[in-house]
Amino acid sequence: MTVTAASVSERFLPLFDPAETAPPSGALEVYFETPVTLGLLHTFSERYADRPELAAAARAAHAAATRATLRAIASDAMLKVGEHTEIPGRPPMGRYLPGRVPLTVVSHSHVGDPGDIDRFHDHVFIGRRGIADIDGRWWPVDVDGLRRGLRSFATHHTHQIQQYLQDELGARWSEPEDRTWMGFRELVQPNLAQYVGDFPRLLCDYGYGSLSSDRWNVVNVLERL
Ligand SMILES: [Zn+2]
Repeated sequence: MTVTAASVSERFLPLFDPAETAPPSGALEVYFETPVTLGLLHTFSERYADRPELAAAARAAHAAATRATLRAIASDAMLKVGEHTEIPGRPPMGRYLPGRVPLTVVSHSHVGDPGDIDRFHDHVFIGRRGIADIDGRWWPVDVDGLRRGLRSFATHHTHQIQQYLQDELGARWSEPEDRTWMGFRELVQPNLAQYVGDFPRLLCDYGYGSLSSDRWNVVNVLERL
C-alpha cells in the first residue's frame, strides 16, 4: 500500500513515485512500526479464522495511523529560512517558517518472507529542502525539529491504531505500564498479546536499509531518548 502524500495533506510535494523508482539518495527516512498484535490480528483472521472483517479492520487501522502521522508531520515540519546562527547546545537562531515539504510514504504489510506474520509499517521519506510559503524559494527542512517531534508522531501513529480497533471491534489493549520493550501496548481483547514473544522483531530493508544513518527507526530513537 502506498499512501500518496497529496491525499493526506496539500502541504506535501511528492518526493518520488515508488511504483517507478527507488527512493532518491540524500533524503531522510523515518520508519514507523506497529504493535505485533496488529499484524497477528490480520494474519490469524485472514489465514486461520476466515474473518475478513477483522482483517479489513486491521488494515484500516494501519491506514488511519499513517494518515494521522502525516497530518502531524505536516503541521510540525518547518523550514529554516534565511541566515541561521549556530548557538552551542541550542537550536540555531533564525527564522523557522512553514512551507511545502517533499514527502512520500511507502506502507508495507510484510517484512520479507511471505510465510511470516504480517508486520505493518511505514517508510516516510522526507526531502531535506522545501518551498517556503513566505517567498516561494527552496530552504532547508529543520531536521532537528523533526527529530524532536518523533515522540509526538509515534504517539499519533499508535494512538490511532488503538482507537480505531477499540471503536470498530471493541478491542482492548494492555495497560500502559505493560508496554513491550518496543514501547507498544498490545491487544488483550482478543487476547493476542500472549503470542508476541513468539515473533521477534524484524526490520524491513526497503529504502535506505535498517542500518543507514539516513534512516530513523523510531522505536530505537525513542528508546535512546
Ligand atoms: Zn517495508
